[in-house]
Amino acid sequence: MKAFSLRNPALLVALGAVMYGPAHAGKTVSWEDIVNDDKTTGDVLTYGLGMKAQRHSPLKQINTKTVAGLLPAWSYSFGGEKQRGQEGQALVHDGVVYITQSYSRMAAIEAKTGKRLWTYEHRLPDDIRPCCDVVNRGAAIYGDKVYFGTLDAGMVALNKDTGKVVWSKKWGDHKVGYTMSGAPFIVKDAKSGRVMLVHGSSGDEFGVVGYLFARDVDTGEEIWARPMVEGHMGRLNGKDSTPTGDAKAPSWPNDPKHPTGKVEAWSHGGGAPWQTASFDVEQNMVVIGTGNPAPWNTWARTADGDSPTKWPSLFTSGQAYVDAGTGELKGFFSHTPNDAWDFSGNNSVLLFEYKDPKTGKQVKASAHADRNGYFFVTDREKLAQGAGYPWKQSALIGAWPFVDGITWASGFDPKTGLPKVDEAQYPPKPKAGADKGDSIFVSPPFLGGTNWMPMSYSPETGLFYIPANHWAMDYWTEHVAYKKGAAYLGQGFRIKRLFDDHVGVLRAIDPKTGKIAWEHKETFPLWAGTLTTAGGLVFTGTSDGYVKAFDARTGEEAWKFQTGSGVVSVPVTWEQDGEQYIGISSGYGGAVPLWGGDMAELTKQVSQGGSFWAFKLPKR
Ligand code: CA
Ligand code: CA
Repeated sequence: MKAFSLRNPALLVALGAVMYGPAHAGKTVSWEDIVNDDKTTGDVLTYGLGMKAQRHSPLKQINTKTVAGLLPAWSYSFGGEKQRGQEGQALVHDGVVYITQSYSRMAAIEAKTGKRLWTYEHRLPDDIRPCCDVVNRGAAIYGDKVYFGTLDAGMVALNKDTGKVVWSKKWGDHKVGYTMSGAPFIVKDAKSGRVMLVHGSSGDEFGVVGYLFARDVDTGEEIWARPMVEGHMGRLNGKDSTPTGDAKAPSWPNDPKHPTGKVEAWSHGGGAPWQTASFDVEQNMVVIGTGNPAPWNTWARTADGDSPTKWPSLFTSGQAYVDAGTGELKGFFSHTPNDAWDFSGNNSVLLFEYKDPKTGKQVKASAHADRNGYFFVTDREKLAQGAGYPWKQSALIGAWPFVDGITWASGFDPKTGLPKVDEAQYPPKPKAGADKGDSIFVSPPFLGGTNWMPMSYSPETGLFYIPANHWAMDYWTEHVAYKKGAAYLGQGFRIKRLFDDHVGVLRAIDPKTGKIAWEHKETFPLWAGTLTTAGGLVFTGTSDGYVKAFDARTGEEAWKFQTGSGVVSVPVTWEQDGEQYIGISSGYGGAVPLWGGDMAELTKQVSQGGSFWAFKLPKR
């Protein structure tokens, strides 16, 4: 684990909110504004550009014909000595861009000119434990406030016009490893009519129990909390509610029926939902991916003498359907039962609809590209109505590989919904007296066929656009014991190259057939999300500093611009005064330089940075 020293006194000046000029007394944000975000082009009010997280914009001024002329309109430097990974997705409202940055910072910038309006810098203790860089992925906005998570396991609400703190809540102990990098999300419970702030937690690499929370938007008080490890107790309105799944947690080897004495892993079982939810408005359902079971070491979660396939470590590494009003877990689909490879299930779960080619009926589905290399389409109505809970995998519509060279499973059985695991891919236990087991070769590696960087969907092409990587790892088992605040993995690894000519591979996939429509290769790993537009374009960024646009139908590279540092963030688009803008952060970092082995070496040449770029077409 890398340490991030915050002791430099130069970093302690100007913490908190700083305003530059008079407050911009803007319009407030209503639930109607938020629920219609995917249709309204003048703003970006949600992570995912809509409740369904499709990351698609109806804007088309910038299109396959005009994109070649796209130019920077302005650039804003995040400044200071704090750089590292800039993974944030901007929000845009009423002429203001809100962008979060590394080290739990946020800025409000005038969307037309790039002029700084206010900045907020969170005071962080020096013993925070982010596993994968000091990143922040974005904010939520509602009423007169903007909200974002902090690395010391906090949530802050700021006045959107001044940057001043309205409320600030610690929701977890950062000393045991709780932290937060993901963007929070606004939902409205259909039964009570209450608008709530929903957010997750991070920390699986330190053996936390992952929670999803709903909070009061005005006070930050917890409304409900849902742990993602089976058998742990949820909370509702300050009281115990229900255990997650079966109170006896039969999917973990501490079940009274299986008295193996291995209670330890269950008490620190991970499952943290550290990415951002989607919201199925019709079914009042929060949809979110859950993190890996802790520790990574599969044998610590498997009864002696059994195959790990018998112990699925619920409700980790899958997609969870949580009732917005009560925080009850209604449905669950596991992407990797008893995940032995830190695949985790966190990557975005997109909601979309399509016509079943056989029956002609409209299917309400979820789509998810997992670190395990498979692209999943599931029946989200079934899941929201309880299918898959108690756990069964009957909501699976399709699971197709979106990367080449997958070693851990040969596919998914359409009848059972379960992976056909190659049991030789469970890394062997250390032999008696040895401190580690034999190394095996696994692809994808734990950094994933894709990772946190969200994919997008274009209803016009009917394709999903996945920022993927081709790589692998040497992987071996080590002894593991829980120690508060220490890494809880029980695995060793080295990330390796899979192909000579590329690592990154942007792929377009058809959700009806699993066919790859086109691909674009990159020398460096891809670590930025994608955005699609009605202009027939896909936007993304590359680790060697480019923002790029591709033709959504053909994959032809249509435009690029060099930003000066690696781009590992998420693009957005909005319209102001009749002009379409593209906005994206630049600043290299994230998990690859810290954990990436041979790929960390490869990207050492990338310059650090920290800036936000806005692009538009030149005026005629
Ligand atoms: Ca909008
Ligand atoms: Ca993990």
